[in-house]
Amino acid sequence: MTYDYDLFVIGAGSGGVRAARMSASHGAKVAVAEEYRVGGTCVIRGCVPKKLLVYASHYAEDFEEAAGFGWSVGESSFDWPTLIKNKDAEIDRLNAIYIRNLEASGVEIITGRATLKDAHTVLLNGKEITAKYILIAVGATPFMPQIEGIEHAISSNEAFHIETLPDDIIVVGGGYIAVEFAGIFNGLGAKTSLVYRGETILRGFDDEVRHHLGEEMTKKGVTIKTNSDITSIVAKGDGYEVTFQDGSQQTTGLVMYATGRVPLTQDLGLEAAGVATGKKQEILVDARSKTNIDSIYAVGDVTERAQLTPVAIREGAAFAETVFNNNPQEVDHSIIPTAVFSQPPIGTVGMGEEEARAAGHDFDVYASSFRAMKHTLSGSDEKTLMKLIVDKASDKVLGLHIVGPDSGEMIQAFGIAVTLGATKAQFDATVAVHPTAAEEMVTFKQPRGE
Ligand code: NDP
Repeated sequence: MTYDYDLFVIGAGSGGVRAARMSASHGAKVAVAEEYRVGGTCVIRGCVPKKLLVYASHYAEDFEEAAGFGWSVGESSFDWPTLIKNKDAEIDRLNAIYIRNLEASGVEIITGRATLKDAHTVLLNGKEITAKYILIAVGATPFMPQIEGIEHAISSNEAFHIETLPDDIIVVGGGYIAVEFAGIFNGLGAKTSLVYRGETILRGFDDEVRHHLGEEMTKKGVTIKTNSDITSIVAKGDGYEVTFQDGSQQTTGLVMYATGRVPLTQDLGLEAAGVATGKKQEILVDARSKTNIDSIYAVGDVTERAQLTPVAIREGAAFAETVFNNNPQEVDHSIIPTAVFSQPPIGTVGMGEEEARAAGHDFDVYASSFRAMKHTLSGSDEKTLMKLIVDKASDKVLGLHIVGPDSGEMIQAFGIAVTLGATKAQFDATVAVHPTAAEEMVTFKQPRGE
């Protein structure tokens, strides 16, 4: 049987683009369908614009701290529309690069929403298109709990385009996006509350990291309300009146929900094609990203393995190698370095204490919390946390956690060591780089409690 394409990719985000380009480089005839903008969540309304806003929001603190180093900064003011305009220009530039790269790789881009008809056919813009293989890389979308007045709330999608920055903002959730945006809004001058239903933000991270970040965010001015949830949002004047579970109320200029992201599998034709999904409507795949249908694969957030761009890229590349280069590959999801661009940011790789305990490890903890050198003059009382979790039997570093400036950069490098299974002795054998905060990781002497 002949097909229109060797590969049809649905979704031009991180995973889809990588898979499309690499498959084309292996000689496949490839088309990719995108209903919104090439680049996907990360480039268009995720990691990239978010990081630009994080940079923007840090200036207030930098100006304040400059005085200790002899600078007088004078009066400063912030203009949200300028930031958004410049951010949009940068996103347009990246979007154009993504399009150019796809085209240069010989991939055909088709604008529109593609759905599955059967194992080898997609429906797109009123046409049927056939392909030997179909790759689903449609990503995920913000989950909004169905409370009264939820239509008044925004998600991170809209946060990048609000026209004005209100004076008072409530962010709901305690995960990556909630802590990152709470830091952004707070840094840009909005009175910011973070409302989290649990006891401590960032469930799943090392407990000490969670508490440390909570304390630092609070010191910077974010009001963190834990064990709290919103039951209704009512429009009032220019803003909203929010009612909490305990009956208390707060007026605010904006409510943003960051309560997780769900796979975008609705109305995708999965049933027509017979593709199996899991409890969260995620597409179920094997280690090589193949669904239960031999000709259909899926990568990235839609599979709910790890909702992270670099992971989607890996999965897309492994798919192309497996299917079009006769070089079967599986992505190792067991150890993933990651950064949370909160303020201060978190860098983490491997297990937290609780996870190591649950996995049955007997381990030592090496940790320190200290004022970074910069803050000896800046006047800031921000504390950096550095923590190593070391398996007693093997001396292997099971987990490495940092809360502090540049921890995202540090964790990329430390991630190599931990991924390679480095031991504490090998950390100790590494010469320190002085004066840095990172040198703490190779100079720990005594485990906690000894
Ligand atoms: P997360 O899964 O990280 O966090 C969701 C948060 O919302 C949790 O605190 C959760 O609480 C809470 N929540 C869930 N449902 C409800 C509800 N019905 N009512 C109230 N609270 C609720 O999702 P995010 O939206 O923050 O981010 C999505 C994913 O995107 C992340 O998991 C991450 O993988 C990725 N991401 C990565 C970034 C990075 O690498 N820096 C940046 C941003 C996103 P509970 O803990 O109780 O379940």
